[in-house]
Amino acid sequence: MDRPDSQNDDTACIRTQVEQSGEREHSVPMFMTSSFTFNDAEQARALFAQEEEGNIYSRFTNPNVEEFVEKMCALEGVEEGLATASGMAAVFTTFAAHLEQGDEVLASRYLFGSTHKLLTQVFPKWGISHTYGDIHDLSEWEDLVTPETKFVYVETPSNPTVDLIDLEWMGTFCDRHDLIYIVDNCFASPVLQKPAQYGADIIIHSATKYIDGQGRGVGGVVVGNEEYLEPIQSFARHSGPALSPFNAWMFSKSLETLDVRMEKHSRSALDVAQHLQEREDVKFVRYPFLESHPQYELAQKQMSGGGGILSFAVEGGIERGARFLDALEMCSLTANLGDSRTIATHPASTTHSKLTEDERRAVGILPGLVRVSVGLEAPEDIKADLDQALDRSAQ
Ligand code: PLP
Repeated sequence: MDRPDSQNDDTACIRTQVEQSGEREHSVPMFMTSSFTFNDAEQARALFAQEEEGNIYSRFTNPNVEEFVEKMCALEGVEEGLATASGMAAVFTTFAAHLEQGDEVLASRYLFGSTHKLLTQVFPKWGISHTYGDIHDLSEWEDLVTPETKFVYVETPSNPTVDLIDLEWMGTFCDRHDLIYIVDNCFASPVLQKPAQYGADIIIHSATKYIDGQGRGVGGVVVGNEEYLEPIQSFARHSGPALSPFNAWMFSKSLETLDVRMEKHSRSALDVAQHLQEREDVKFVRYPFLESHPQYELAQKQMSGGGGILSFAVEGGIERGARFLDALEMCSLTANLGDSRTIATHPASTTHSKLTEDERRAVGILPGLVRVSVGLEAPEDIKADLDQALDRSAQ
């Protein structure tokens, strides 16, 4: 799988492949095997002693998983990675591998619901605490660092309000305080945003979203340079959050089209956002590449496209919002995002229902907020479905 130095990332996503098996196959086969055989007892010993490189057991390594991880490392511009059974397994494994009793996490308040749940209800059981910082007032972060702070954890754009964090500012801040800088890059994908360029030490993805891109498989991946990844890989080897070879094969295949998919998701989402913004019954639309987004300049600086997610609020509150969702004919009502099919979600009652009403309000998740993951259908058909549902729900 040696990659020429001159190769571009999108080429690496297509051309990084496991060695041919001897059948002269053009596309990579699936290695659906729990374990790998040893030539003799000496090789078994050497592999276990890590004196020789090679596969032993698919909880540790597997060729399909390795191929997927290599592609993600190429895209994010880092050295090492670990693929996991879900995005949350990637988050959990990262925290569990690095943190010790007494450590503190300084995180953005704008987090995915399950990450918030880990910080507020799971890690405190092991003596790991957290503090939330406001992403719109970065000056307050200086006062939130304590001698126990070890991690800074941020998501940008955030789920579901698409608020942004200044990745460069945060990189300098983490350097100044010697903190491990972690970015959940799930909404942008490495095609639109590369946090390592701004100093991120660890980058996390739910592969379930744009990496799979077609709503078929659950998985996750965490990447970064060796210093930060080695403890995570070692923890995972024994705690077992491994990704299945089948899902790794599927994600690796999907990465071949990530670049073109993200381009269309971004183009269509901007079109839909501009369209919704013109409707009088839409209170506001949030989309990073919409000029009305309060952080439009920052989006232009750190993202090469706005991505596929927007959120908006309708006039008429939660009841109208519910009628709107029920009136959709083509768009799917489901809790996923990053799919080829357009999806509408009501975050307050689904993805962010784990937060209290006050916690949701603090991060802009109003009761009537709708999140749309703009898919790869013709944008005219997406707009037509949203329009008819808005019209019908007004009555
Ligand atoms: N991070 C973000 C920003 C997400 O939106 C999600 C899921 O929606 C996750 C992490 C968790 O990923 P998974 O559902 O694959 O565990």
